[in-house]
Amino acid sequence: MIEAQGVEFNYPAGSFALRLTSLGIAEGERVAVVGPSGGGKTTLLHLIAGILPPDRGRIRVHGMELTELGPDDRRDLRLLKLGLIFQDLELLEYLDLLDNVLLPYRVSPFLHLDREAKARAAHLLEAVGLGARLNDRPGRLSRGERQRVAFARALSTRPSLVLADEPTGNLDGATRDRVAALLFDHAEQSGATLVVVTHDPELVDRFDRVLDVRELP
Ligand code: ADP
Ligand code: MG
Repeated sequence: MIEAQGVEFNYPAGSFALRLTSLGIAEGERVAVVGPSGGGKTTLLHLIAGILPPDRGRIRVHGMELTELGPDDRRDLRLLKLGLIFQDLELLEYLDLLDNVLLPYRVSPFLHLDREAKARAAHLLEAVGLGARLNDRPGRLSRGERQRVAFARALSTRPSLVLADEPTGNLDGATRDRVAALLFDHAEQSGATLVVVTHDPELVDRFDRVLDVRELP
């Protein structure tokens, strides 16, 4: 699902460098990404998502060589195959929660916004505990609630690869368990690959592999 070879990435300011000699993540594998703050976890996820281009080397995701794709194709790959839960949650304030979850369907001409997609979106919002607020705007939600909407949106397209950056960081214990269950159920049912940054020891235990950014392969 993910294959990186000889990757080097530097931020323009030159303050931080990430190197990946050879990393492979198999289809269906569930990987936790750990490491200290500032260690490069978010940067690694952005490289895999094709949001940041590497200075050197190649990254293949879902059989596609990211550096050979233009920005539009990389965006299509993200919309069609990837579920992203990043720290900047990017909810649109003028859409209600249901339409925020359905956003990939409104943006991509390749996804069909049919009855099943709508039912799935409503079901996902219910599953994260926001079923009574489908028609509310995100402006009134707490950080943790916004995170749950982003979660529902990431799973709405049945992505084969989920990239999540500390997705349970702002959630209380019960909500965290509910959201984690949803994530692992999705992986189980659709064979999706998970790459999840987390500091939560209980959550880390549930993954197949732990990738520490201080010791990248
Ligand atoms: P983590 O997610 O593990 O906390 P990040 O990947 O966000 O770490 O950041 C890794 C390093 O890169 C940090 O030192 C951070 O300050 C630096 N960094 C992150 N984003 C930028 C940027 N846009 N420009 C320059 N440096 C950055
Ligand atoms: Mg980070």
